[in-house]
Amino acid sequence: MARPIVAQINLAALAANLERAREKAPRAQVLAVVKANAYGHGLMRVLPALQAADGLALIELDAALALRDAHYSRRILLLEGFFEPRELPEIARARLAIVVHHEAQVAMLERAALPRPLEVFVKVDTGMRRLGLAPGEVARACERLSRAPAVAALRLMTHFARADEDDGVAGQLAVFEAACRSLPYPRSLANSAGVFRYGEVGGDYVRPGIMLYGSTPFAYDSAAMLGLAPVMTLRSEIMAVRDIAAGDAVGYGGAFTAAKPMRIGVVACGYADGYPRHAPNGTPILVCGRKARLAGRVSMDMVTCDLTDVPEARVGSPVVLWGEGLPVDDVAAAAATVGYELLCALAPRVRVVATRVGRIDLLL
Ligand SMILES: *Cc1c(COP(=O)(O)O)cnc(C)c1O
Repeated sequence: MARPIVAQINLAALAANLERAREKAPRAQVLAVVKANAYGHGLMRVLPALQAADGLALIELDAALALRDAHYSRRILLLEGFFEPRELPEIARARLAIVVHHEAQVAMLERAALPRPLEVFVKVDTGMRRLGLAPGEVARACERLSRAPAVAALRLMTHFARADEDDGVAGQLAVFEAACRSLPYPRSLANSAGVFRYGEVGGDYVRPGIMLYGSTPFAYDSAAMLGLAPVMTLRSEIMAVRDIAAGDAVGYGGAFTAAKPMRIGVVACGYADGYPRHAPNGTPILVCGRKARLAGRVSMDMVTCDLTDVPEARVGSPVVLWGEGLPVDDVAAAAATVGYELLCALAPRVRVVATRVGRIDLLL
């Protein structure tokens, strides 16, 4: 029998989450963010579920070119733009839109001779202090770019540092408005957290990422509360069951010690599959559809869990590491990280199966 771990990608859930972004930001075009191989879900695999998006946004030039090779014809935005002038002719030929976040990129564009001019999103640093032009430089950069033959059209954008917190956008919005007041170009502001605050944030193009994959951008509002459905379900099986005595320690370093006689289940999934090694004792896991807890350190190919509350569990019993029935955000919270990191880290050795758009099957 093959090792039973599999990541199931529910494309109908992805399409429904995209619809949710549309509902929340009804006046905006939706650029679905698909960087990092669609947050670990597989870029080409998820493409059919994103047909209703007005375009896609990502970081990786090679993936953007692959999308054009696959005849994706709508807008594709490179969220970090280009790194060297050498990339520009290829970007132009593939009709990719770019972000310009630094004066050095403005200067390179001024000097570029391209096969066709580019759509450019000028990024304003409104408080993230990571990428973006200082508010005071924006008008001048737009003026220079509007005269550059390599530039066909200008847009304005920013990225929120704290859109997931209460009062998180007001300050940055004010800075953006002040920097862009005299500039007549369309605007892009919202990530997933901003999409849920669209009434406040607004903008012509929204850039939802994590919400499409059914994970929450907020610390306190769960994905279910936001009307989002999990897209990736990481499934495996119990591969061994042990009865241990009070005082027995489980796994590397004896990180869990039994207080009483108990049953331990060994699950075929470890950190080499993308499960977080730092997930502690007590991290939730579903066995036979019931909540159980990790007991013992995560190892490369296995995790161990306490089967006290799942007496029917035996070798071959189904396990959900995250996804349907167990939000990835709950596992992430237990491991002191966010759903983004777990989804993006799915390892190449895990077999992936996708369910078609419109068809919801449960491979239990
Ligand atoms: C990743 C990214 C997004 C999407 O963010 P989510 O929190 O996943 O919705 C939007 N805009 C930019 C510039 C990004 O880099």
